[in-house]
Amino acid sequence: MSVIREDDLIASVADALQYISYYHSPDFIAAMGRAYELEQSAPARDAIAQILTNSRLCAEGHRPICQDTGIVVVFVEVGMGVRWDSSCDLETMINEGVRRAYLDPDNKLRGSIVADPAGRRLGTGDNTPAVIHTALVPGERVEITVAAKGGGSENKSLLAMLNPSDSVADWVVGAVPEMGAGWCPPGMLGIGIGGSAEKAMLLAKKALMQPIDMPALIARGPSSKLEELRLEIYRRVNDLGIGAQGLGGLTTVLDVKVLDYPTHAASLPVAVIPNCAATRHVHFTLDGSGRAVLTPPDLGQWPRVAWTPDASARRVSLDGLTREQVATWKAGERLLLSGKLLTGRDAAHKRICALLEAGKPLPDGLDFRGRVIYYVGPVDPVGTEVVGPAGPTTANRMDRFTDTMLGKAGLLAMVGKAERGPQTVESIRRHRSAYLIAVGGAAFLVSQAIRASRVVGFAELGMEAVYEFEVRDMPVTVAVSSEGESVHESGPLAYRGKFAGIRVAVEPAG
Ligand code: SF4
Repeated sequence: MSVIREDDLIASVADALQYISYYHSPDFIAAMGRAYELEQSAPARDAIAQILTNSRLCAEGHRPICQDTGIVVVFVEVGMGVRWDSSCDLETMINEGVRRAYLDPDNKLRGSIVADPAGRRLGTGDNTPAVIHTALVPGERVEITVAAKGGGSENKSLLAMLNPSDSVADWVVGAVPEMGAGWCPPGMLGIGIGGSAEKAMLLAKKALMQPIDMPALIARGPSSKLEELRLEIYRRVNDLGIGAQGLGGLTTVLDVKVLDYPTHAASLPVAVIPNCAATRHVHFTLDGSGRAVLTPPDLGQWPRVAWTPDASARRVSLDGLTREQVATWKAGERLLLSGKLLTGRDAAHKRICALLEAGKPLPDGLDFRGRVIYYVGPVDPVGTEVVGPAGPTTANRMDRFTDTMLGKAGLLAMVGKAERGPQTVESIRRHRSAYLIAVGGAAFLVSQAIRASRVVGFAELGMEAVYEFEVRDMPVTVAVSSEGESVHESGPLAYRGKFAGIRVAVEPAG
């Protein structure tokens, strides 16, 4: 009989969370590398180059791939022959592992979890509790898969209770454009079919824990109806032309995973959960012989892609920037920003707009007139860092505040990720503003452009406080021009239907 010690489980969970915070898995990197080779869209290729370069930097520097270090999801299969040497229950042990990982002073991870979600939404401080799924299975081992799931991709999860005669592929292919780009493609789709509503969602999440093997499937051909479905959805979704970060391009999904389960004769539950450019999960086994050993990946497997500031990109000084200069930026154009910009996300926007709507002044130090704002909630710095990984957050959460920010606050332009809503695009056009995107999933690379940082407002909001960053050559793409042209509309249109003619690189089956 295996005896699993409490300390071994806690240390293994903590090690796993640190490991996946900075190591992409080699299958994911190989797939992203193939997407880079195939890509014909210049902005999408540039975005993938940033993701790959960021990945290597994080692996070498042991710093998080993304500023959103995720909600922890753990799948545990407990062998029924296992005995525990522990004074506490399984959830308590796992959450202690989460706490240790997220508070590790050498690589402190961002605590993103809030308690009282429909009320005060106060941070728990250590990213606990994890979402834990436990199954009892035959045997004397404990199999554990640990994942850290980004909020941007989790927010795009969907469930449909289809009619039994409906097409699963049609529904998924119709749903993906509705997701927008806030899930930071290229990534994966996990699809759960059957069971009940909650079972389908669980299957979709579990499906995402499988390694990427689409090239091998293409090479050997499908051997089941589910594999045919995977291939059909993979081809049709990529043929939508959404591309990296929704900029328009050939690769939107690197793989499509499907799990199914018997269901009621009257039902066809289907769930889809996307996983993003920061796909993070690892599996390990405890058999009583000690804590899990996680071997670092061989970085020689990372493609030789090293993103550097593009000489063809326009250099923009943020200091003294004028509305006339902003009006010359073209949708899809790549810019390198230098100078001072302000930050702010959900909580700060809510407070600022409440004050402005009430006709009250903003606190001292908060003046958005003629400034550019970056939607970001960075990781705390370690060592000599100015700021930890600091990638963009999903911009459309700020849509409800944007007209006030552009009008009453006098903001000039914004930096975030993914598309804006139609009313916001119209507001940007009316105010002759612009919306820029940085690459979601390239947070550590973006943070290298930040040379100085200070809090200028709402310090009590922690990572949601308003900072002033001084940046040098921060890479962004114009997503909405001052004329109201949106690359999230024009980019995918230009690449729609083009994937069908592409010969996807394949690997030998195996
Ligand atoms: S890559 Fe995008 S969706 Fe994924 S964790 Fe980062 S910001 Fe969130």
